Amino acid sequence: MAKVYDAIIIGSGPAGYTAAIYAARANLSVLVFQGYQVGGQLMLTSEVENYPGFEEGILGPTLMEKMEQQARRFGAEMLPEDVTAVDFSRRPFVITSDSGSYLARAVIIATGASAKWLGLPSEQRLQGRGVSACATCDGFFFRGKEVAVVGGGDTAMEEALFLTRYASHVTVIHRRDTLRASKIMQERAFKNPKISFIWNSEVIEVLGEDAVTGLRLRNVKTGEEQTLTVEGLFLAIGHQPNTSLFRGLLQMDEAGYIIPVEHTMTNIPGVFAAGDVTDHRYRQAVTAAGDGCRAAIDLERWLESQA
Ligand code: FAD
Repeated sequence: MAKVYDAIIIGSGPAGYTAAIYAARANLSVLVFQGYQVGGQLMLTSEVENYPGFEEGILGPTLMEKMEQQARRFGAEMLPEDVTAVDFSRRPFVITSDSGSYLARAVIIATGASAKWLGLPSEQRLQGRGVSACATCDGFFFRGKEVAVVGGGDTAMEEALFLTRYASHVTVIHRRDTLRASKIMQERAFKNPKISFIWNSEVIEVLGEDAVTGLRLRNVKTGEEQTLTVEGLFLAIGHQPNTSLFRGLLQMDEAGYIIPVEHTMTNIPGVFAAGDVTDHRYRQAVTAAGDGCRAAIDLERWLESQA
């Protein structure tokens, strides 16, 4: 008969690995589907300076490797595969990947959210070398430097305002001639002497060999091109939660973020969610890890209640 895991965890970012550490250490049998991006979003970055416990900072991939080893130490099994289907309509739940179907008494979804990028080769090449999608994470590295923010919504204004604490100047680049951001955020941004705007424009190339030195912009109305000298580019054009597998099954908001209904438990008893997949507000490694801990404790208590 096929093994039934106490917990299957989908995702190997800080939320998934922390859930695995707690669940495995509570003597539960645990399988982690690590997915296409083993280690999650922090694999895309270099220095992480705001994760507690590493006073000198730590490389993102090193931090994630340590979390994985910690979960393995307590017996969590790892599969570097994507989950391709889930069946939450029967118990045990059935989780399917390319290598087969796996059974679980309970499931934690920690599939994260992906930042939306412009899709330029130069942008991809310079990710972590001046191109970022997180001002809270990387703003500190741009003290006294000129940076640009792409976007026109509330997040873009928040990122721009936050960056003024460090950067000497912040240029917001927006495709339209008006902002989507709320009135209050617009006013704050317009009032800030460190922020200026370039309207009706898009980034067509990020300049620089090993680090960002500037941007090539095109006016979408006139086609005119210009170069902007900056050392940082922050994308604030939204995030996409990785929840397509669960659409129609789990309660979600309009953007596709899972909405837990009781602590970390979703509308399906025994299915929990943690990390960026439920969080469009904080989006930090430490909050994701905290959520993973909460989900594992909730799962453990729920399993006990079922015994
Ligand atoms: P993620 O880290 O997004 O992990 C999601 C996991 O789900 C991945 O392992 C993926 O493979 C897996 N997955 C998705 N779909 C499937 C599927 N179908 N089947 C199986 N697995 C699946 N935060 C900080 O606190 N400090 C920083 O300095 C910092 N820097 C950052 C730099 C960059 C470039 C980026 C992009 C983010 C940064 N962040 C930082 C944010 C931080 O990385 C995230 O908040 C955190 O990783 C979220 O953790 P998570 O576990 O919820 O999801």
